[in-house]
Amino acid sequence: MTIGVYQGVEGAHSQLVLAHYLRALGDDGGGFGVPAYRQLATALIAQRAGVGVLPIETAIGGTVREAYDVVAEFELAPYAEIAWRTDHRLLGVRGAALAGVREVLAHPLVLAECGHFLAGLRDARAIPCEDTGIAAREVARGGNPAVAALAPAAAAAIYDLDELARNCADDPATYTRFLVVGPPGSAAPHARGEGSRRKTSLIFAVEERVGSLAAALGALANRGINGDRLDSKPHLGHGTERLFYVDFDGDVADANVAAALHDLRAICKQTVVIGSYDAHAGAPIGAPADAPPPRSAAVRERAPRAPSANGSPFPRVARTANPLGSVVRVGGLTVGDGSFTIVAGPCSVESREQIVATAQAVAARGAAMLRGGAFKPRTSPYAFQGLGWDGVELLAEAGRASGLPTVSEVMSIDQVERMAARIDVLQIGARNMQNFDLLRAVGRSGRPVLLKRGFAATIDEMLAAAEYILAEGNPNVILCERGIRTFEPATRNTLDLSAVPVLRERSHLPVFVDPSHGVGVSRWVAPLCRAAKAVGAHGLLLEVHPNPSEAKSDKEQALTFDEFAQVVDELERIPLPDAPRAHPGAWR
Ligand code: PEP
Ligand code: MN
Repeated sequence: MTIGVYQGVEGAHSQLVLAHYLRALGDDGGGFGVPAYRQLATALIAQRAGVGVLPIETAIGGTVREAYDVVAEFELAPYAEIAWRTDHRLLGVRGAALAGVREVLAHPLVLAECGHFLAGLRDARAIPCEDTGIAAREVARGGNPAVAALAPAAAAAIYDLDELARNCADDPATYTRFLVVGPPGSAAPHARGEGSRRKTSLIFAVEERVGSLAAALGALANRGINGDRLDSKPHLGHGTERLFYVDFDGDVADANVAAALHDLRAICKQTVVIGSYDAHAGAPIGAPADAPPPRSAAVRERAPRAPSANGSPFPRVARTANPLGSVVRVGGLTVGDGSFTIVAGPCSVESREQIVATAQAVAARGAAMLRGGAFKPRTSPYAFQGLGWDGVELLAEAGRASGLPTVSEVMSIDQVERMAARIDVLQIGARNMQNFDLLRAVGRSGRPVLLKRGFAATIDEMLAAAEYILAEGNPNVILCERGIRTFEPATRNTLDLSAVPVLRERSHLPVFVDPSHGVGVSRWVAPLCRAAKAVGAHGLLLEVHPNPSEAKSDKEQALTFDEFAQVVDELERIPLPDAPRAHPGAWR
């Protein structure tokens, strides 16, 4: 049974990595935390612990030089590198609410990795502290619902905390590299995997002058050795020398590595070999099996294969794929099951007062979901562009307060993951209906998607766009007719209600209508709501504002609360039409 040591307290990522390493050894040992890396080294040297775990590189903060320095100074033996997905969650005391958080405690590197999330938390101050476990422990000890910590999910269980938000990192792929080390001169207790890649870490010093770094790196390159990471800092007390931290492929026992190190010693002022260890293989530990691949790879990914042909150009979306029609679930709500769903709210979230008042008003008058744009696709760059992440938080808050699930538009791939963590349904706007990379990204988001028809898109082009989302494994798509551009200028767009029966015949997906953007004039919205229900739509998307004349976007088409109430009343009198009958040409 091995006793391990890590920096921090229970719930710190280092502790989780240690537990993982020991588990993989089949060792049911445990570990203890120490406040500093040096104490970790002395615990190993004094044989109070058999292995230690240190973070050596974070995705945003870069090299943790102090950890490398301690390994080098105490001549600890590196065993293995472990890439660990640092899944940052916001944890608060039981019953705390995200909207009430005023202070967020976290390790400074974690604060850096969650910059966007923190910027979106109104009125909350970021407070650096020594480590993630300590942050969680302090929150639990304080018992104050206004104080939360960014920490891994495991810390919530250890300290009995509630999870207030997940996926808080700016980049969902964020991970940290840890080094498992042992006492000086010791050998790793784990068996080396067959064909496992070895890595070596080194610190060298060179004079700051033209070509000195190139010469040092050339010593590796000349022997065909691949460098993996390079970082530097001034060599204090040594004039203009700089210290370079480099990791490269290979083991000091390899002949080419030994030769390269010989060359390096001749070139460099100082060379400290930290040692060779097993490189991490595969994706970071803890990355969800369905995690999106790194962004750069996502766009170049192989196209998904079409399912066995049913003759349709959009086989997953075609009615034949689900002749009874699909039901999309949004939280406890069902869409497309024969009920009629009204989604209402402002074009743009403008303020807490505006969105909370609208949420309450539309909830009381029969809306099933709350809409609100935070990222607005505006024709003019000078028009109101939306409140961004602040708007998303306000919409989420209003949704929670009113009990309504929320819908908001995502305009770019990098908004998808974070929006999916806050909002129930991701809207793809008309202007993005054929933004295929964005369609793929929402297809992997795990959230239902409201796909609006492009204003110059045919019905089949809309279905093909939906196919992109389904092809990524997301079956929860609601199609939304919102008007197309024709020669007719009397209305904002021409609301193509004929698309409803056509879409219902060609596809099993629920179909909504958005008369607000369709006609663009509030007094014509009501009759088109009735028509949409009569023609077979499964629901409506409606713009409602407490004071339309003051709306920051689409003021001409917004309904007042009273007008909305009247629309809902009138709709009660329109019966739901029968489901479309099977049609021989329905494969399309
Ligand atoms: C909206 O719903 O506010 C919107 C921008 O819609 P569309 O993409 O249909 O123009
Ligand atoms: Mn609008």
